[in-house]
Amino acid sequence: MTIAVYPGSFDPVTNGHLDIATRASRIFDTVIMAVFDKPVSKKPLFNVAERLELLREATIDLPHVQVDSYSILTVEYARQKGAQVILRGMRSQSDFEPEFRMAQINRTIAPDVEIVMLMSDHAYTSFSSSTVRELALLGADISWLVPSHVAVAVERMYGQRA
Ligand code: ADP
Repeated sequence: MTIAVYPGSFDPVTNGHLDIATRASRIFDTVIMAVFDKPVSKKPLFNVAERLELLREATIDLPHVQVDSYSILTVEYARQKGAQVILRGMRSQSDFEPEFRMAQINRTIAPDVEIVMLMSDHAYTSFSSSTVRELALLGADISWLVPSHVAVAVERMYGQRA
């Protein structure tokens, strides 16, 4: 039974995240998309419960994908879940440097947990959750970047703030 933890902010989940989770679920028995509830961070657009709800709906048709949140070291969380793998998505060379450094640190702390990177599909390399938030804030269409229920939730959020 191979379990992969896919950690992230997922604020909000995008089609890029879902592509990585879908492809990983063909390799691993279970993929846990885990929202990292950072103790210190800039104010997120969605709180953790909201991000989990958006993730739950987005992964409803992915039987091998679970969603969860955590607020401890990612390697500790992976161990608690019995996961052998921490999964990350790689969009470009600029993702490489921080991911490589984090992988080295995690490897030192927990040599028993492997870090696995999946390369982003070319359709998803150009954007992140922050791109989605910035475009929506400026009133641009985000329906090509996120599932429809996420687009509705993001637009509602900015509508409330306006
Ligand atoms: P974090 O704050 O940990 O970077 P994110 O939610 O931004 O969390 O991303 C989680 C993971 O998903 C990271 O490994 C990131 O590189 C990857 N990722 C983010 N956006 C995309 C995308 N469009 N395509 C593929 N992978 C992505």
